Amino acid sequence: MTTIELDTIRKEFGDDIVAVDDVSLTIEDGELVVLVGPSGSGKSTTLRIIAGLEAPTGGDILIDGRRVNDVQPQNRDIAMVFQSFALYPHRSVRNNISFPLEARDVPKAEIDRRVEEAAAMLDITELLDRKPANLSGGQQQRVALGRALVRDPQAFLMDEPLANLDAKLRKEMRTEVVRLQQNLDVTMVHVTHNQEEAMTMGDRVAVMNEGAIQQLAPPKEVYRRPANRFVAEFIGSPS
Ligand code: ADP
Ligand code: MG
Repeated sequence: MTTIELDTIRKEFGDDIVAVDDVSLTIEDGELVVLVGPSGSGKSTTLRIIAGLEAPTGGDILIDGRRVNDVQPQNRDIAMVFQSFALYPHRSVRNNISFPLEARDVPKAEIDRRVEEAAAMLDITELLDRKPANLSGGQQQRVALGRALVRDPQAFLMDEPLANLDAKLRKEMRTEVVRLQQNLDVTMVHVTHNQEEAMTMGDRVAVMNEGAIQQLAPPKEVYRRPANRFVAEFIGSPS
C-alpha cells in the first residue's frame, strides 16, 4: 500500500517566486489523482517534490505515514515518467527497460523475466531488440513506461507523459495508462494541462492555479460544482 501525503508543502524560488503555495493533499492507496492547471501553476514542482528531485522550502511529505523529506529519490520507491521520454539512444528497447535493474544488481535471469513481463504488459514484446530511433512516439512512450514499471514501484508520477503525442494517440494512451494503473493497483499522480485528459483519467482531480489547489474532487463534482470562477472557466463548466 502507498499513501502519499503532502502537508502544507511550499516551494519558493528566490524572493519572488512562490511555485507551490502551501499545498495539502492526500493521495490514497491505489488512487489516480490528476493535477491539472495552466502552465506555471506549480504542477511539475509539486511532482518533483513528491519524487524527491526538489526539496520543499516548507512542509512535509509523508509516504505511508513516514516523513520522507530527507530521503533520497532512489530510496523513495517511486517511478517518474516525463514528457520527454529520455530514452538512451544507443541501447535497445530491452536494455532501456532493464537499465534501472542493472544499477541495482538484480540477477540476469530475474532482469530478463521482469523486462519481458513489463514488455508484455505494454504490448511491446516484438520491439525489444529495436533502438528508440526506430520507434514511433507512442512506442517510445511505452518503453519509457516499461522502464518505470520494471522496478515494480509503489507509486507512479507522470509529468505530462502524453503531451508530445498526436491527438489520436494521446487518447489511446490515456486509456492505456488508466488500465495499467488499475492492473498494477498502484498509486498514481498524473500531471496535465489538458482539462479533458484530467476529467477522463482521474479518480479525483486537483485543479491548480498560482501554486495552490483550487479544488480537489472527483471529475463529475468539479464539473458540476466548480469551487470558484477560476475552476469553472478552466474546466469549462456550464455557468
Ligand atoms: P507547471 O508544471 O504547472 O507548468 P512549474 O511547477 O514548472 O509549473 O512552475 C511553477 C512556477 O515556478 C513557475 O512560475 C516557474 O517559472 C517557477 N519555477 C519552476 N522551476 C523553477 C526553477 N528551477 N527556478 C526558478 N523558478 C522555477
Ligand atoms: Mg510542468
